[in-house]
Amino acid sequence: MRDPSTSCIPSGAFARRPSGSVTIRHGSHGVIIGGDAPIVVQSMTNTDTADAIGTAIQVKELARAGSELVRITVDTAAAAAAVPAIREQLDKMGINVPLIGDFHYNGHTLLTDFPGCAEALSKYRINPGNVGQGAKRDTQFAQMIEVACKYNKPVRIGVNWGSLDQTLLARIMDENAVRKEPWTAQAVMYEALVTSAIENAQRAEELGLARDKIILSCKVSGVQDLIAVYRELARRGDYPLHLGLTEAGMGSKGIVASTAAMGVLLQDGIGDTIRVSLTPEPGGDRTREVIVAQEILQTMGLRKFTPMVIACPGCGRTTSTVFQELADSIQTYLRDQMPVWKNDYPGVESMNVAVMGCIVNGPGESKHANIGISLPGTGETPSAPVFVDGQKTVTLRGERIAEEFQAIVLDYVKTKYART
Ligand code: SF4
Repeated sequence: MRDPSTSCIPSGAFARRPSGSVTIRHGSHGVIIGGDAPIVVQSMTNTDTADAIGTAIQVKELARAGSELVRITVDTAAAAAAVPAIREQLDKMGINVPLIGDFHYNGHTLLTDFPGCAEALSKYRINPGNVGQGAKRDTQFAQMIEVACKYNKPVRIGVNWGSLDQTLLARIMDENAVRKEPWTAQAVMYEALVTSAIENAQRAEELGLARDKIILSCKVSGVQDLIAVYRELARRGDYPLHLGLTEAGMGSKGIVASTAAMGVLLQDGIGDTIRVSLTPEPGGDRTREVIVAQEILQTMGLRKFTPMVIACPGCGRTTSTVFQELADSIQTYLRDQMPVWKNDYPGVESMNVAVMGCIVNGPGESKHANIGISLPGTGETPSAPVFVDGQKTVTLRGERIAEEFQAIVLDYVKTKYART
């Protein structure tokens, strides 16, 4: 057998960009963004924040799905007034996830007029393009930073190309006009986004906000644009970066676009916290954005959240739906167990389960997984061999294959991952 150390195929090297770190606190619970900390998954509610109970319920769902930070819109006096009640409700339910307030236009007023809101939030998101115009802009930005300093809260300077500071853009366009070789309009836009984030972070520091209280983001909706902007943002400083493709869209398009953009950047070591901005289908589940974010990180080998199901795509050798139903039921079962399993069975999130459609790749793939099952393809003997740690242990038959396989998985988890 060939010695892998002499292989000419490079290993998948991954090096995280060095950055400072910011701790987002709620009580004794803290989530670290940046430095050597694991890349953090965050999400955002789509409830009316003034509806404290409805918002607390959705925050709980997002947190239970694995969101480590949850952002809520704070856009009106009613919303600001509801924030302490949301926090209290979450605490009563035993949900300690830190809450982030998303402010635009009137954040300076809301944070000043509603000290309970300023206190209950664990971090503020400020969009420098939506802070105000002209002289008011500087004053209102300063007011928000003063509140952050007063309550010792971190801030994300969150630039978005849909609401870019037009005064800054005009300045950069003017500078570009006198260049010997002017940049393209696209390059000017990139520069304006990055400059807005960096200059506002520096301004916040001048106003007294500690460097270890500042996170940056520069969100755009195009994949290539996001990659270019974040590479430049990462090059120009060591602030921790919040990564996300804004307005990614709905369904598979939103998932693919977010994964394509963030996958490239994460592999470059860029990104300390991520959010997947999926548009839910009508009546769809908001927690999907959390699951997609976790799956991006886990499939890239950057974090582990839940046991992974390896399943073949099926083909003409699997003409029934039994195989798809088994893959779906075991994946749902594993994810549903995780809120309890992650406490009771440490390390279970590293487990791999293979569900394969037939004998072609079934036994081979099953042997590589912790537990694998190879279902009978069309024309094969109606039996399903099960492999545990590479060894064939039993062959399942009949109508109850799914239930019996689930029981084998549970037994394996209890034996292998029980606390000692
Ligand atoms: S393992 Fe079998 S059923 Fe699955 S894709 Fe391959 S040949 Fe088709």
